[in-house]
Amino acid sequence: MKKGINTICTHTGELKDDTFKGAVSPLYMSTSYAYEEVSEKRYPRYFNTPNQQALSKKLAALEKTEAALVFGSGMAAVSTALLAFLSKGDHIVLQKTLYGGTFNLVVEEFEHFGIEYSFTKGLSREDFEKEIRENTRVIYAETPSNPLLTITDLRMVGVLAREYNLVSMVDNTFASPVNQNPATLGIDVIIHSATKYLGGHSDILAGAVCASEAHIERIFSLGKNLGGSLSDYTVWLLERSIKTLGIRVKAQNKNARKMARFLEKHPAIARVYYPGLKHHPDHRIACEQMSDFGGMLSFEFDPSVDQVSFLKHLKLIKPSMSLAGVESTILSPAKTSHALLSEQERADQGISDRLLRFSLGIEDKSDLIEDIEQALQAVGWGVEVN
Ligand SMILES: *Cc1c(COP(=O)(O)O)cnc(C)c1O
Repeated sequence: MKKGINTICTHTGELKDDTFKGAVSPLYMSTSYAYEEVSEKRYPRYFNTPNQQALSKKLAALEKTEAALVFGSGMAAVSTALLAFLSKGDHIVLQKTLYGGTFNLVVEEFEHFGIEYSFTKGLSREDFEKEIRENTRVIYAETPSNPLLTITDLRMVGVLAREYNLVSMVDNTFASPVNQNPATLGIDVIIHSATKYLGGHSDILAGAVCASEAHIERIFSLGKNLGGSLSDYTVWLLERSIKTLGIRVKAQNKNARKMARFLEKHPAIARVYYPGLKHHPDHRIACEQMSDFGGMLSFEFDPSVDQVSFLKHLKLIKPSMSLAGVESTILSPAKTSHALLSEQERADQGISDRLLRFSLGIEDKSDLIEDIEQALQAVGWGVEVN
């Protein structure tokens, strides 16, 4: 029977407590399991403890794939998925705007492995197709991207992958499975940093990969050797967190949509980047492939606003790293995620020093807006100086 997203979040995969009839999945912390007369030899690094398998079922149901694996971090998921399909002499095409950790993995490590790579110049079909070579094996995208929330056409990526016999991979962290299911758009491998929306409370580091049985088998066979699995206690906490994924993300979508409209009209704001706004260059593709536009937006103040001082005066919204928690956070990409790029490289990517990335939490919208207004007032914005 086809279940709704909130029912999947709450129940799919849950373990029955046959001994005490408790309402939630029991936690099995054992690292040692019997080996005689068992169908499967269990060990946490083999991704097959009861809690790991239970959570994998939930994740696969959320992403509408046959199978899933849970990892110790988003980067363990990214690196294991990539290396499972890339060997010495192979080539990968990646989209130009990528999460910093993924970019670093590729440019700092792939040369030692003898893996070749190219980044696209833009996000169109031509931009991806131009980079495909004889030895290309994987095509990799991330949408919405960080921090400008550009949208990559996932159907196009899937079609291109099938035409050239490549494995398509998408980092679906920013959208979460609530707003976008790449598998239904023809993507083979879906990756999450579960540290973000899946965890949702800024207290879990984890990752996930969702794909067909065949693709997961290949990722598993490398993954058990690399050893990036997640400990069962955190697996259990993540299962608990995902029970509220649907309602959290829907509240975050709504806050982001309303905040984008508020900021867009505000005279202190020069520019807002949110795929749900009609003037966003990729709005049409976002409408086609996403059910809602997510809880992330970016904006730039008018140059007259002292941004550093504004951030210091916020009382509710936290200027802090990472994203997707139930609490609203804000950061300067130029000072954090993109600090290692040169000023020119940032400018080429359209990331100005005045850009702020805003991760909407689940607080009441009126309190978030009041916080922004009072911080603007505190920095003297809007006060006549003559
Ligand atoms: C955070 C993040 C990652 C990496 O995840 P970790 O859990 O920090 O290892 C990968 N992709 C995206 C889009 C992210 O935001």
